[in-house]
Formats: sequence, structure tokens, C-alpha cells
Amino acid sequence: MYIYFDFECTQLNGIHVPNLCVAHRVCQCCDHLPINEPCKRCEAFGPRRHVFQGPKTLKDFMDWLLATTPNAQGQASAMVNKDAISRDMTGNSY
Ligand SMILES: [Zn+2]
Repeated sequence: MYIYFDFECTQLNGIHVPNLCVAHRVCQCCDHLPINEPCKRCEAFGPRRHVFQGPKTLKDFMDWLLATTPNAQGQASAMVNKDAISRDMTGNSY
């Protein structure tokens, strides 16, 4: 299973705060299907497209990600944290 996501951020006082995230979940059976088409193999995880908005965007995304990937909680968290740190969630790369 793969999770693709993209964040949009607001910027206040030089700090970027995520306020929109669109995430797509795909498995090897549906990675070629339009995102709105259901997948018999992974439909138990719910819709394949999720949109998170507002001040709790990052928390809501992480809650969903960890619930969607319960067997990979540590890896998912580490991956997102590493990505968040490397891009500073601000668009600034390090
Ligand atoms: Zn699938």
C-alpha cells in the first residue's frame, strides 16, 4: 500500500502551517485506477482519497495515516517526520 500526499500551508511570521492536505491511498491493484473508483482489495480502508483542512490538518492527516497503516505506525511516523523535517513543513529544504 502506498500513500501519496501533498500539503498546502499558510505562512504567519515566517512559519508555514499546513492548512490543506490531499492524500491518495493505493494498493498494487488500484494504483492504475482513477482515484474515485473503488478497489475491492483495499476498500476495507475506506475511500482512496482524503482531504484534510483547517488548523488541525497535520494532526488529522497523521491520525488517518496511522489508522490506515496500523502495522507500519513507527515507519509511517518516521517517514512523515523525516519528510516534514527535511522540508521543514515550510517549503524550505535542508
Ligand atoms: Zn486498492
